[in-house]
Amino acid sequence: MSVRYNKQGFTFSSSMEVELLVLTDLTYDELENFVKSQGLERYRADQIADWIYDKYVFNFKDMTNLSKQTRNELAKIAKIIDLSPVERKVSKLDGTTKYLWILEDGNTVESVYIVHPNRNTACLSTQVGCPVGCPFCATGQSGFIRNLKTSEIVGQLLFMEKLHGEKVNNVVLMGMGEPAFNVDNVFKVLEILTHPKLRNIGARRITVSTAGVPEFIEALGKKFPQVRLSVSLHAPNDEKRDILVPLNRKYPIALVIQALKRYIEDTGRRVTLEYVLISDLNDSPDDARELYNLLKGLKIHVNLIPLNPAVEGYKRPSHERVTGFARYLEARGVEVTIRIEKGQDIDGACGQLRMRR
Ligand code: SF4
Repeated sequence: MSVRYNKQGFTFSSSMEVELLVLTDLTYDELENFVKSQGLERYRADQIADWIYDKYVFNFKDMTNLSKQTRNELAKIAKIIDLSPVERKVSKLDGTTKYLWILEDGNTVESVYIVHPNRNTACLSTQVGCPVGCPFCATGQSGFIRNLKTSEIVGQLLFMEKLHGEKVNNVVLMGMGEPAFNVDNVFKVLEILTHPKLRNIGARRITVSTAGVPEFIEALGKKFPQVRLSVSLHAPNDEKRDILVPLNRKYPIALVIQALKRYIEDTGRRVTLEYVLISDLNDSPDDARELYNLLKGLKIHVNLIPLNPAVEGYKRPSHERVTGFARYLEARGVEVTIRIEKGQDIDGACGQLRMRR
């Protein structure tokens, strides 16, 4: 027997193939409907949510406040999670931990658990590979296979929290993939993570990163105005960006900046602009000047990321070049940080995911 959820509700079929419903695929309303469809009282949804999102119990048999019969019945048609860890690498430099997960179809994705002095951050993937294909990025060079399901994104977070024995303070959708191309699942993930009865993370503690898809930026601002937005620009003009972020050929810089202006107007929020500095490609004083002219007057924070070399031919600039770039912007009133990368020895830093198996 299998059970599916669609807009009409739950449908049951008696096919021989057992396809289990994954509960981390469900929003709170859907979970409630599922519980009711099983003839259970509504409050059982809260109990199940508590087991999954607070106690990290991923099997029905340990949900001891449900009757044994209910647990057995639920296990026949549903499960909690649909990925499992196959590899865990811990950085000797800073404790950052990279996970490789195996999905039910055999594909693999990675996530990173980043340790800061007073907080922990989970960096989650949204796709298997990435269709944007930035030439300096290991993920982009590994091609694109498919979108991740809601449960496969939520599952990365829950499993990492379970394995570390503590809740993270921040979540960033900045791992493998372009969230804008998996918008339905990404929005459902945001709903699940922020719902008070599910994972209950403050929306301001979640950041969604995009390579710059204007429709997505607009939709995110309207639907989740409190979620943080981060846009990967990586180049100060279309000529360079067409090469460094090939999506630019479809959405040139002017369209991205226009979308950012609208987003800032609508939400009043500051946007983070990610800019990977690559030696001799986008790190010159002229590049800094062009970037400044683009951003002048915008409520923007620029995050400069000295490249973590992951693909041959693309190098990290010298320290002087990086600080010179930052100082140029700072001197003109732009808020700038130079990102201190974590997990470089385990290929867990930005742009390095999926480099090794
Ligand atoms: S840098 Fe980001 S958008 Fe570009 S290929 Fe890598 S994962 Fe995709």
